[in-house]
Amino acid sequence: MSVKVRFAPSPTGYLHIGSARTALFNWLYARHEGGKFYLRIEDTDRERSKDEFLQEILGSLKSLGLDWDGDLVFQSRRTDYYRKMADLLVQKDMAYGEGGALHFRSPKTGKIIVQDLLHGPIEFDLDQHLSLAEDLVIFKSDGSPTYNFAVVCDDADMGITHVIRGDDHISNTPKQLPLYEALGFQKPIFCHIPLILGEDRSRMSKRHGATAIREYVEAGYLPDALVNYLSLLGWSPGNNQEIISRQELIQKFELKRVLKTGAVFNKEKLEWLNGQYVRKLPIPELTDNLIPYLEKRRYKTEDRAWLERLVLLFQERIFTLNQFPDLAQFFFEENIEYNEEAHKEFAKDARLKNAFTRYAAMLESLPVFDAKTIEEKSRALMKDLEMSGKEFIHPCRVAVTGRAISPSFFETIALLGKEKATRRLRQAANSIK
Ligand code: GLU
Repeated sequence: MSVKVRFAPSPTGYLHIGSARTALFNWLYARHEGGKFYLRIEDTDRERSKDEFLQEILGSLKSLGLDWDGDLVFQSRRTDYYRKMADLLVQKDMAYGEGGALHFRSPKTGKIIVQDLLHGPIEFDLDQHLSLAEDLVIFKSDGSPTYNFAVVCDDADMGITHVIRGDDHISNTPKQLPLYEALGFQKPIFCHIPLILGEDRSRMSKRHGATAIREYVEAGYLPDALVNYLSLLGWSPGNNQEIISRQELIQKFELKRVLKTGAVFNKEKLEWLNGQYVRKLPIPELTDNLIPYLEKRRYKTEDRAWLERLVLLFQERIFTLNQFPDLAQFFFEENIEYNEEAHKEFAKDARLKNAFTRYAAMLESLPVFDAKTIEEKSRALMKDLEMSGKEFIHPCRVAVTGRAISPSFFETIALLGKEKATRRLRQAANSIK
């Protein structure tokens, strides 16, 4: 039996982290088994379904690299098929019309047992779950099929072997099972996966932070890092491994290893993990990825080699791509602002006026402007000025970057270039009485 799974979003909103995780588990399972991963658009609610949401969902899936097999299936184009299935039930007197709607004669006594791959058998006693014994509307009076009916018809027609969806659908499954029987359909294997929770263990929602996949992509989370992180939300490879490549995930993913309890979303962990992926990217690729974030700030350069050196300088320091323009700001802006506290400190040391002036003159005179030369000559100057590295470098860093913290000082000077470095040193000298 070859595995066929589906992800069935309703285009009534953006792609939520929780839904993306459901899509990912379906995708991983299909790829692990060499099966098919289908995408079905559940757009029967014509009022709430919007093309912009569909585009956002597809765009988010693509940016995560979750490719689907075959054509998209749109429920809104399959009304004739649902109609046919409903007629079949009417012919067998298993459904009837009332008030313009069609109702399915749901079972009234006994138990419905959902066999769930993760949770085992889940029993629904109809004496206790009275709403399950109510006849189920399968077609609404507006002529559209209901979710529970369309889902069953489609899962059967598409030959879905495993229905992998969120725990929030557990209560729908006992409504769907009698329909499988009434229509003579073969039942798929059900696997309800736990929801994603916020830090307070309630269902992950906007008040816990960004929930749309698009927001994470825009903030500069890398697709592989997101996929890695989402896969660990409710699944584990069986050891404490945290960094797992896409290929390894496909190889190791098993439904049986999905955890039964909700997984807590931890933004810090995701950020840390993304940082690990940033460190591993080859510089040319990381540079390509960072350029759009620079462009958003109108930071431009024609000098690719310079930019790649700059990226290398910050590769160990950024966790998300959108942090780069902030950290590298002083390389692109003409004028810098001093970190107030750091500046106060250097303004106190009268020796610095002279030190900055001499440093500027020395840098200006250098025929070769690379980190190694700059370091050698700077150390000689410090000696001459009788200043320690700490006394000299720290204020100079504030003078040229505006900040108390920056990457490697001499490479920073080299990449700033003579003009910016000397101009800023002279400005700093002038700011001291
Ligand atoms: N359209 C449903 C949802 O977005 C899909 C449920 C299912 O997978 O059966 O929740």
